[in-house]
Amino acid sequence: MPDYVPDLRMVKFWETEVAPILMPLFNGSLLHLPEIQKQYNEDMATFQKMYGCKLDISLGDKPPKDNAGENGALPFGCSLEDGHPRIIIFMPELQRVLEMLKFSRPYDFRIAFETECLIGIMHEIDHLILGKIGYIKDLRETIDVERVVWARTCENTMARLVTRRDLTDSDKDFYVAWCKSGRDAESQQWKDFIASMYGSIKRG
Ligand SMILES: [Zn+2]
Repeated sequence: MPDYVPDLRMVKFWETEVAPILMPLFNGSLLHLPEIQKQYNEDMATFQKMYGCKLDISLGDKPPKDNAGENGALPFGCSLEDGHPRIIIFMPELQRVLEMLKFSRPYDFRIAFETECLIGIMHEIDHLILGKIGYIKDLRETIDVERVVWARTCENTMARLVTRRDLTDSDKDFYVAWCKSGRDAESQQWKDFIASMYGSIKRG
């Protein structure tokens, strides 16, 4: 992907809002959410075995067009160029998420933003660990990929966050649907739910 050079506004956004959330996770010091840290550490060990290298994190401007939904909301993506696992954080999109949360949840937008960032990163890690990466040609394939990946995200990340904090409405929808479908990625109920989510708005 082309090199992205964040402007000053985005540098400030990274330094003040995003880095304080994500750097502790990357550095192994997310002490207030030990279950998430533990999962991340285990996933990184799996990465090392799978890919023989560390996960790269890079910043990006806009997600690829075929990945953007109606709302364009897709702050995280992943790639495996030359066998090298990478997560891309699309900065303007992520800033939009923060602005929306300030509006919808003025009482706890920082906590909600942290939750969103962690779920977003862990979901992309799930894509890479499950090998569900790359160009997706149609909605049917999207559903087939995302139902498996979101199953892992619900089980390994959301189930651990939900006991500690109030998920955003959209994440709650995913988690509730996952529980209602008997935590079964093969169930018709889960497939229908993922289809309904990706039929209208695409998520990473
Ligand atoms: Zn996804």
